[in-house]
Amino acid sequence: MLRSPFLRKLYLGYVALILLSTAIVGGLIAQQIEEDSVKEIRQSLNVRAVFLQNLVSPTFRGPPDPTLQQRIRALGAAIDTRLTVIGLDGGVIADSEENPSEMDNHANRPEILAARSHELGNTTRFSDTLGTMMMYLALPVWSEDRLVGYVRTSLPLSVVEERLAHLHALVALGAGIAVSVALILGLFFARRVTNPLTSMTTAAESMAHGNYDQRIPVTTTDEIGTLARTLNRLSENLRDRMETINKDRNKLLAILGGMVEGVVAVDQDERVVHMNAAAGIILGISPESIVGKKIWESITIHKVCEIVDKTLRDATEVAEELQLIGPPQDRAVKVNASPLHDSQGSLVGAVVVLYDLSELHRLETVRRDFVANVSHELKTPITAIRGLVETLIDDKQMHPEHRERFLIKVRDQAMRLGVIVTDLLTISRLETQGDVLERKFLDLRDPVLASSQGLLPPREKEGIIIESQVPEEPVTVLGDEEALCQVVRNLLDNALKYTPKNGRVWVRLRQEEGHAVIEVEDTGIGIEPRDLDRIFERFYRVDKARSRELGGTGLGLSIVKHITHAHGGWVSVDSVPGKGSTFRIYLPLAPTSA
Ligand code: ADP
Repeated sequence: MLRSPFLRKLYLGYVALILLSTAIVGGLIAQQIEEDSVKEIRQSLNVRAVFLQNLVSPTFRGPPDPTLQQRIRALGAAIDTRLTVIGLDGGVIADSEENPSEMDNHANRPEILAARSHELGNTTRFSDTLGTMMMYLALPVWSEDRLVGYVRTSLPLSVVEERLAHLHALVALGAGIAVSVALILGLFFARRVTNPLTSMTTAAESMAHGNYDQRIPVTTTDEIGTLARTLNRLSENLRDRMETINKDRNKLLAILGGMVEGVVAVDQDERVVHMNAAAGIILGISPESIVGKKIWESITIHKVCEIVDKTLRDATEVAEELQLIGPPQDRAVKVNASPLHDSQGSLVGAVVVLYDLSELHRLETVRRDFVANVSHELKTPITAIRGLVETLIDDKQMHPEHRERFLIKVRDQAMRLGVIVTDLLTISRLETQGDVLERKFLDLRDPVLASSQGLLPPREKEGIIIESQVPEEPVTVLGDEEALCQVVRNLLDNALKYTPKNGRVWVRLRQEEGHAVIEVEDTGIGIEPRDLDRIFERFYRVDKARSRELGGTGLGLSIVKHITHAHGGWVSVDSVPGKGSTFRIYLPLAPTSA
C-alpha cells in the first residue's frame, strides 16, 4: 500500500501530525470537560448544600429534631446525594447514609475546617466511613450571625469518574472517527500527489536507461503537471539529440569504415577507442578484439606503439614509414600520428592514420616498368627501321634484290610498330573509358568459328591441327562482337604461336552454370606455374626473344583480360610445362538464354 518511499514518508509524517494534534486537542477537550464536570458536580453539591443549609438551619435554633435523621436519609435517597448535618463541635447530627451515633467526630475533616474559615469547604478524599473516594462540599450554618453547625453534601467520586469515563469515551470515539476520516482522506490526497511523482520517477529512470519514447500523462495544470510536461519535452529533446548523435556517429563510422587508410584512435592512457577495418587489415588484427585495450597489449608492431607513445608524450605529430613483415604479407606503411585535443585544448588522445603504400609502390613499379617496356618495345623496331633505312641511303649501288629485302624488313618493322601501337591504344581505351564496348545479343558460335577459321590456312601448313567444337544451339551473351572476336583471336594466336609443329589446338564453346565458356587448349610448350599469375600483365612474356621473334607484343593476354572483365566475366588458365595450356573465358549468359 505504501510501497513508494516518498508516499510513506509523506503519509507517516501526516499520520504523526494528525495523531499528535488529535491527542493534544482531545487531551485539552477531555481536560476541559473534566474540569467542567467537576465544576458542575461541585456546583450541584453546592446548590444541594445551600438547600440543606436552609432546610436544617431552623433545627439548630430549636430543640433537637428526632425526625431529622429520617428526613435527611429520605432526602439523600431522593436526590442521590449523601447529606450530612454536623454540629458546631463536629459531631454528626444526621447522615443520609450512616447512623450518626456510629460516626466519628467530623470537626477535623478538611472540608469542615475549610468551611469554618472560608464559608465553603470542598475536598476530594477517601471516605473512611464509606470506604470510597468522595467529593465533599461543606457550608457553615448560621443562626443570627452565629455559627451553629455545618451541612455537607457529598458524592462518591466513582459517579464522577463514571461520568468522566463516559465523556472520555465519547471524546476518544469522536477523535477516533476524526482520525480515521483524516487518515483515509490524507492517504487519498497523498496518493494524488505522489502517484504522478512515482510515474514521473519511473519515466525519468527509463529515460536514464535510454528509452526516450516514454511519455508521462499530464493530468493537472499545477506544478506537477508542469513538471510532467517539462520532463516530456526533455525526453523529446534528448531523443532528437540522441538521434542526431547516432546519425553523426554512424556517418562517421561509415566514413571511417569506408576509408582505405587505417585509422586508430587512442585515449590519453593509450587505450584504443576506435579502429577501422582497414587498420585491422594493415596491422593484421581484428578491430573488435582491440577496442578498450591498451594499444601495446594487442598491437605487436612495436614501432607503431612507440609512435603513439611519442605523440602522447610530446603532443606533437609524428610521421614515419615502416616496413611491416607479414603475415598476412609484407607491407610498406606510412604511419601518421597526431595528438587530439578537446575544446579546452587539453590532450585527450591521439589518432593514428596508416597508409598502405604497398599498392602505391606496386603501381609505381608497374608504371615505371610500363614506360620502360613501351620505350623498349617501340625502340626496337624504330632502331631496326633506322638502321635499314640508313643502309639503304648510304648504299646507293645496292643490288635491287637486297634493296627489296631491306624494304620488306622496314615494312615488317613498321607493321610491328603499328601492331604495338594498336594494342596499346586498345588497352588504354579499355582502361580509361571502361564501357566503350557495345552490348548486343550475340551468339558466341559466330566469333568462335570466324576467329578460328580465319587462322586456319597459314597454320595448318605448319602441321598444326585446329579443331573447333561448338554446340548445336546458340550460346547467347550480351557483348561486343568485335572485342570478343579479338579475345578468341588472341588466345588462338598464342596457342598456335607456342605450339610446335604437328601439335593440336582445340577451340571449344559450351554453357556451364549460367556462363558461356570459351576454351582454347593446345599441346604447346606450356607455362611454368610461377609465370601463370603474371602472363596477363602488360608486356609480360615468359621468353621475350621468342615472343618477339614470333611477332608477339606481350599485350595479347592483357587485352583478353580487360575485355573479359568489361563483359562481367573472368579468365582462367591451366598449364603443364611441355604438355600444353588451356585458357578459359567465362562470360555471363544473356538473361533470356540463362
Ligand atoms: P605475346 O604477344 O608475347 O604472346 P601475350 O600477352 O599474348 O604476349 O602472352 C604473354 C606470355 O604468355 C607470352 O609471351 C608467353 O610466354 C605466354 N603464353 C601465352 N599463351 C601461351 C600458350 N598458349 N602457351 C604457352 N605460353 C603462352
